[in-house]
Amino acid sequence: MGTQLIERGMRIGECGMRWNAERPDVVKEVHQAYRNAGCRLITTNSFGGSRSMLERHGLGDKVADWNRRAAEVAAEVAGADGWVIGDVGPFGDFLEPLGDTTVAEVEAIFREQISALVAGGADAILVETMSDPGELCAGVRAARAVTDLPVIATYAFQKCAGDYRTLMGTKVAEAIAAAYAAGAAIAGANCGTDLSLADYVELATEICAAAAGRPTIMQPNAGAPHPMGDEVRYDATPEEMAQLARTLRALGISIVGGCCGTTPAHLAAMATA
Ligand SMILES: [Zn+2]
Repeated sequence: MGTQLIERGMRIGECGMRWNAERPDVVKEVHQAYRNAGCRLITTNSFGGSRSMLERHGLGDKVADWNRRAAEVAAEVAGADGWVIGDVGPFGDFLEPLGDTTVAEVEAIFREQISALVAGGADAILVETMSDPGELCAGVRAARAVTDLPVIATYAFQKCAGDYRTLMGTKVAEAIAAAYAAGAAIAGANCGTDLSLADYVELATEICAAAAGRPTIMQPNAGAPHPMGDEVRYDATPEEMAQLARTLRALGISIVGGCCGTTPAHLAAMATA
């Protein structure tokens, strides 16, 4: 969503949540492009929509309005056979003892955001790109506290000395087990740091083993990032992502999507595959 909005005129560093209220036509256009590509789960433009993230822009009073609007805009596109996935990203800091925020505080932050996404018509909640199992589980518990909707929970993993781990050092099996134990209906991975397409296949194998038959999800980046001046490029082709999608399904991943660098063309190839 971020890169798609930047392509449509958003400035880097600008608060993307604002576009739900002020440029809903553009947000809707991005959703429609993915819907047309064959995506049936439409993720709301609310990754940075927690109070702690909006306060960075002095916009903490917009949580309820802008998250509700994010869900409403996605619902207009999802239609009868699509689903609105209410997106919740990291709160933007470390939990205690590394940071100053308590688990109770971050749960309250997530409850506020998730309540607004539910009010706008979300069909499920996605707690994503989490690098601390403590924060991911707080997000899952927050969702369970305010709604009966299914909760999807995904980590951003990285490869560390041959193992896949979160930034906090937690291995896949332990991290995934914690997500289900907190109440996630579906658990898995999105994004990730410097992971190749082959890495995502290995990671999927570990996730499926940890899930032990429960539903799983993977939303990989379009390959590993390459720095290009001030930018970062992800250069896996739609055909390569289509092959990866087939492999992930064959391994047993229940839901396949895309994260950084996956354009509507990538998702179209993946959906067809
Ligand atoms: Zn990503």
